[in-house]
Amino acid sequence: MFDVIIIGGGVIGCTTARNLARYDLNVALLEKASDICEGQSKANTAIVHGGYDAKPHTLKAKYNVTGNGMFDKVCSELDVPLKWNTSLVAAFSESGIPKLEELKHQGEVNGVHGLSIIGRDEIIRREPNISRSVCAALLVTNGGIVCPYELTIANAENAAENGVRFYRNAPVTKVEKDGGQWRVQSGAGTFTSRAVINCAGLYSDVINNMVSENKFHIKPRRGEYYIIDKSYAGTFNASIFQLPTKMGKGILVTPTVDGTLLVGPTAEDIDDRDDTRTTSGGLAKALKFGSATWEHIPMRDVITTFAGIRAHCDRDDFVIGEAQDAPLFFNAGGVESPGLTSSPAIGEYLADSAAEKLGAKAKKNFNPIRKSIPKFREMTDRERAQAIASDQDYAKIVCRCETVTEAEIRASIRRPVGARTIDGIKRRTRTGMGRCQAGFCTPATIKILCEELGISPLEVTKFGGESKMLDRYLFDKGGGNHA
Ligand SMILES: Cc1cc2nc3c(=O)[nH]c(=O)nc-3n(C[C@H](O)[C@H](O)[C@H](O)COP(=O)(O)OP(=O)(O)OC[C@H]3O[C@@H](n4cnc5c(N)ncnc54)[C@H](O)[C@@H]3O)c2cc1C
Repeated sequence: MFDVIIIGGGVIGCTTARNLARYDLNVALLEKASDICEGQSKANTAIVHGGYDAKPHTLKAKYNVTGNGMFDKVCSELDVPLKWNTSLVAAFSESGIPKLEELKHQGEVNGVHGLSIIGRDEIIRREPNISRSVCAALLVTNGGIVCPYELTIANAENAAENGVRFYRNAPVTKVEKDGGQWRVQSGAGTFTSRAVINCAGLYSDVINNMVSENKFHIKPRRGEYYIIDKSYAGTFNASIFQLPTKMGKGILVTPTVDGTLLVGPTAEDIDDRDDTRTTSGGLAKALKFGSATWEHIPMRDVITTFAGIRAHCDRDDFVIGEAQDAPLFFNAGGVESPGLTSSPAIGEYLADSAAEKLGAKAKKNFNPIRKSIPKFREMTDRERAQAIASDQDYAKIVCRCETVTEAEIRASIRRPVGARTIDGIKRRTRTGMGRCQAGFCTPATIKILCEELGISPLEVTKFGGESKMLDRYLFDKGGGNHA
């Protein structure tokens, strides 16, 4: 019996978990995948939006602006990389300038400060590599970039350190009221709780519609991207948007906090919520529209492509808060963009609302501080020597592209809510995220995972389920010993 069960371990569920850990409550988070951060929160543009784009008086506008203002504190407490690199919304013809004025006005109504329209010379001074056909741009000084998976994982680690229980491989199949409590059936067993918080992302409608007559429906909207190699770091400073369309914020070019660049995302309504395949058509579109901003996108330096699926809600807004007809059942439904930006505000609101309803008291010993795994690639020579002196595994580079050491990989497995898969290690350390895309480091990563978990290499998966890394026949033939 828990006080609160959170369904879904994306950035919203994990942020809510951390905020609930501030209270004297017994909290569990159930995640259907083999790891947290397997949904929208792992595959997005990673921008901390300023708040000019959301329609005024919507929940998107409210939580975007409030969430943006919380990022400095949250990222500093959780030791998560954040950069206020500004955003530019660029118009490439004079006819786009009235739309920029509209966006500026909209942002001001939403309470965003520091918006201004800048001309061609100023844009080129700031961004020498932007297409010369640029005419004007909206300058958004409170636009930033963050690492979305580190933010999600950091929230989860801090929540776990403060007492929240995480259950992975726990798909929720049924939520029902049983007397005065909620009964939640999942692949990891049946749980009961006083309150339920639905943070199931692309499946938030399915969970809500099990218990509430106020139904909503998610329409999956896929976005495809290119990732450009770090050797182009510095090509653009700001996140450069084009004018938004009715499908979203359009295709942009943006640096990431790790030094790579993203071009994308497209916006295509699809039927399958889990279809994260990239397509030749989608990537061609990303290239075509991206080239309006960055004329000669270096295709030889594309290190990979990926797709993320937005949880677009038929209400065209977030669904946040307690369901009117289901007391103590709370929703974070349809949280598409700007959901990452809104996450600190949504997580705080949901946790405070549930705690208040449950009459919970603040926990005296909540510790808001989480330290990230010390990153060898960011250390000075002196720090590297010290790290190696205290742990010899810091002397063993496993991922050469991203300079990730064996010590970091072992730490990622040993931490609270630690990695259990190859992708889990990747998102916690950046192994395999560099130019060779895991060509070199995979065998060593598998070996370390086996040593840490005491499992056979044949049990190691990329992301759980049937995504096995090794085939028994091939493995035996290669002379491996899987006993
Ligand atoms: C292409 C794209 C670009 C974006 N760009 C930005 C951006 O630049 N800035 C920004 O602010 N926002 C952006 N967003 C939005 C942002 O990524 C999302 O709003 C945010 O990640 C939503 O988090 P979430 O926790 O609600 O959902 P998710 O991250 O999808 O998490 C939901 C979790 O619930 C789990 N789950 C589902 N069903 C069940 C079940 N039955 N039982 C148990 N668990 C379940 C899933 O496995 C998943 O882990 C973008 C989104 C996309 C797709």
